[in-house]
Formats: sequence, C-alpha cells, structure tokens
Amino acid sequence: MDFAADRLLSVASSASEGASQKARELIARGVDVISLASGEPDFETPAHVVDAADKAMRAGQTRYTGPGGTPELKKAVIEKFKRDNGLNYDLSEVIASAGAKNMVFLALMATTNPGDEVIVPAPYWVSYTEMTKLVGGTPVVIKGPENNGFKIDADILEGAITPRSRWLLLNSPSNPNGTVYRREELEALATVVRRYPQLLVMTDEIYEHIVFDGLEVLSFAKVAPDLKDRTLTINGVSKSYAMTGWRIGFAGGAADLIKAMSKVQSQTVGAISSISQAGAVAALMGPQDFLKERSDIFQQRRDKVLARLAHVPHIRCIRPSGAFYLFVECKSLIGKKTAKGITLQNDTDVAEFLLDEALVVVVPGSAYGISPYFRMSIATSMERLDAACDRIIRAIEGLR
Ligand code: PLP
Repeated sequence: MDFAADRLLSVASSASEGASQKARELIARGVDVISLASGEPDFETPAHVVDAADKAMRAGQTRYTGPGGTPELKKAVIEKFKRDNGLNYDLSEVIASAGAKNMVFLALMATTNPGDEVIVPAPYWVSYTEMTKLVGGTPVVIKGPENNGFKIDADILEGAITPRSRWLLLNSPSNPNGTVYRREELEALATVVRRYPQLLVMTDEIYEHIVFDGLEVLSFAKVAPDLKDRTLTINGVSKSYAMTGWRIGFAGGAADLIKAMSKVQSQTVGAISSISQAGAVAALMGPQDFLKERSDIFQQRRDKVLARLAHVPHIRCIRPSGAFYLFVECKSLIGKKTAKGITLQNDTDVAEFLLDEALVVVVPGSAYGISPYFRMSIATSMERLDAACDRIIRAIEGLR
C-alpha cells in the first residue's frame, strides 16, 4: 500500500542519513566497516554541559517550556550572537528549536508560498532542496566555479533571481565542501540582494567554529547590517559543541519573521526538550576555549588525509577551509571496472564500490547536487582515517 502524500513524490530521503544507517547496520552485524558518512563530531559533549542538563533534570526542569525556547536560552543565544558574530538581537528576534535543521524547515514553512523559489548554491546540504519541495516551493540550484570553492558571485546570483525568488540560502563554512565566503564576496552578494526587496537571506552558520588556516567566518547580517531584517541567521550547538543528539538549534531575525516561525513551531514541535535547553545554555555561556582546540584537530586531520590522497590516481580532493568533510572529485573513476566486473557509471556506483571493496562508507556527490564526487567525513580518529585511506587506495589500485 502506498501511504505517501503527493507532496512526498519529488522529495528524496536524506542520503547522508541513509549511508550512516547502512554503516550502523553493517557494524551491528560485525562487519569491519569504517563509516565516513556521518555529519557529527567524534568528540564528547563537554562535561559541564552534561552536568548542567543533569542538574536541570534533578531540579524538576522536566516540563513543557514556552515554544521558541526558555528565557535563559534566548538570553544565551542573544549573548552568543553578540560575542561571536557582532549581531545585536532582542528577545523578540531570537528563537530556539529542535536543531538547525528544524529551523530551516520552520523558516521555509512560515514564509514560502507554493511556487516561490529558493535559491540554493550547489553543492548544497542535502536537506535544503528537499525541505523547499516539502513546503511547496521550488529549489533553484546555482553553482559557482570549482576553482573558487563553488562559491557564487553577484552575476551568478542575479541571473537566478525572478519575481518569485523568496530566499537565498547561504551555508558557510559549507557542507559538503567546506567553502568559506570572505567579506568581499558577501558584500558583492549583498549588493544584489539590496536590489530585490522580496528576497530574504537564510545563512546557515552551523560550522562557524570549525574553520581552518586562520580564516574568519563572517555573518552575512554583520557584513550587510542594512539587510539584517531580511536575514535569518541560523546556528546551533550540534557541531561546535558536539551535541548532535541534544537537538538544539537557534536563529536570529526580524521580530515578525520569528513570530511567523514560532507559530509553525507551536503547532508542530511545540516546546523543545527542557533538559537539552539547559545544556545548550551551559554550552553557549560556558568556556569557549576548546572550540579552537577541536577545530585545530580537524585541520590536522584534513591535512593528513589530503596528503595521503594527493597522489592517488583518478581522484582529486578539494581542500576545505572549514567544516569536517572532504569533497572528492572522481570523474576519472567513471568507466573503470571493479574486481567483480562492475563498470562504475556514476558516483553512486563509486560509493557502493568503496563500501563493497574498501569497507568504507562515503556519500555520493549526487546527494549534494554535483557529480561525480563523493563526500568523506573527517570526524573520526586519525588512526581510523589512516586505515580508511589505506583501504581506499588499495581498492582504487585494484580497478581496471
Ligand atoms: N546545516 C548543515 C549545513 C548541516 O550539515 C547540518 C547537519 O549535518 C545541519 C544544519 C543540522 O544541524 P542540527 O543538528 O542543528 O539540526
């Protein structure tokens, strides 16, 4: 029996979650798989965060909180935006929800009419286009040159704008290729956005604290303060504080936009976990020095894997400036024959081949709107990354 509503017909399931699930199942069956599929840090949630949640739970903070977050969390979010991003929001301009992912959905659901267009630069995080379709909008995918980290510029953006354009989605540092927009690049985009008053800007800054080579991550609303009321700045505790399972994301934007999003939240998720909110307050208000230490560890891993894969034939790694993924171009693997006699036709085949013959799980680039590539997470120990590189190299050497 087909249970799915029509609106699901064009919506794909999350490829990265699918690949992670496949890896979990294989590992549970005792297969020695190395999963480089997942989008979560391998670090522990800091102990002071766990303690704060434990204390809140024991103090009876186990009831519904107001939708949009507790006053304590909203104040912590305001403080975070001021401290890290130079952005000033008041209480009516911030909202917390069950993850940055849910925040993107709330925003799209609250503002997008059927047929409205959402401009999504590729390669994109798997959920932007699918959530747009879920709410009845139309994703408009654009792409910049690979030699500039696929970043879009003013001309590319302007070429995609129509009277139906509702949102421009920006993600910096980006998933899957770790690109980071610089000040002048954001300023150039802002010049275009200013000319189209119906266009809003959603900036997903979830990887803000994982940035390499001394680069600075800038909020669009800080670079273009006159567009702050047309910008929704999204962030969360998942990646920076290793709190993916706590499901807390937050955003800052114009009071009316936040009100519309709260309305959707109040009729869907309702209040979010009171215990996780207490943990998120501790994360945002507690020590921040470990963020740089962890980012430096990701940079060391990036450098190690880039060095190991630099001379491997048929693949080319794109050097990420942030986040914890390597995006690997694999054009010249297409057409090669595996030991089992299968000809690799596309990057889904490449990902399957790496699973079959290298026991390494990666996510095909097609999930991110660009082929033929694959994404490898570096959010795993140096030893496991080394072992994964050995396996990938061996498997590729065995191709004909
Ligand atoms: N935004 C991007 C770009 C991501 O890569 C992810 C997770 O993979 C999320 C948002 C989800 O964040 P959260 O755990 O806060 O929902």
